[in-house]
Amino acid sequence: TSYSYDTSNIFARILRGEIPCKKVLETEHSLAFHDIAPQAPVHVLVIPKGPYVNADHFARAASDAEIVDYTRAIGKVCEEMGLCPDRGGLGYRLVSNGGEAGVQEVPHLHVHIAGGRVLGRMLA
Ligand code: 5GP
Repeated sequence: TSYSYDTSNIFARILRGEIPCKKVLETEHSLAFHDIAPQAPVHVLVIPKGPYVNADHFARAASDAEIVDYTRAIGKVCEEMGLCPDRGGLGYRLVSNGGEAGVQEVPHLHVHIAGGRVLGRMLA
């Protein structure tokens, strides 16, 4: 079995330019934009441009170039948003929900980057 990707999901529509987003960073294989309903002073979503449903799908199906680009894009957003602890930032949290247990709403891989305040413990 394998995942099937729903091309009508909201992040696919953002990638096609059909609906706007507040862009933070764009690279060859990745796009980062502000979450529409931020849960922290910084709340950015980073997505690969390719059609991947979630993190395990991406790890299985994406090229090495896409995986490197995506990982570096996440780091660049942390830097650009001033979150890196070694550069005076307060730190951050990365979250990627998958499937039913993760309560994933949008079926296109996204990592949430949250920061700008001290975050509570997760998995409460
Ligand atoms: P999930 O629950 O799938 O991990 O998170 C989906 C996230 O996407 C939510 O935090 C939600 O606020 C955000 N979101 C949903 N629709 C849009 C949209 O149209 N634009 C942006 N920028 N974020 C969205």
